[in-house]
Amino acid sequence: MELTHIEHIGIAVKSIEESLKYYEGVLGLKCYAIEEVTDQKVKTAFLKVGQTKLELLEALAEDSPVAKFIEKKGEGIHHLAFATPDLPGALKEADEKGLRLIDAAPRKGAEGLNIAFLHPKSTGSVLTEFCSDK
Ligand code: ZN
Repeated sequence: MELTHIEHIGIAVKSIEESLKYYEGVLGLKCYAIEEVTDQKVKTAFLKVGQTKLELLEALAEDSPVAKFIEKKGEGIHHLAFATPDLPGALKEADEKGLRLIDAAPRKGAEGLNIAFLHPKSTGSVLTEFCSDK
């Protein structure tokens, strides 16, 4: 499959406001967008360092996947997102090679991207996201 770069790294946080004290206040990065993704019950904040984005994820409800993640593992790196010019093709190939898909078809994520997740059980415990701007 064709993956072009790390689109972003998703980081689960209890509070975006608190976390920005570190990412902006200490690391000197700039948060350029805050967006709610209602079907995932999360608020996202995006920062950029070079070509790579960091996506801070804060749960908006107790049954949000991010709330469950923090409950089990605590705050920290949540997922790795790869950019691909061919999201349906990448998903098809992952499926054919026996990986477990969380999203069988692309859906809308933050920043208007089409996204799909692979289950960490079949990716060496790394929740993996594919993103495409097409
Ligand atoms: Zn993501």
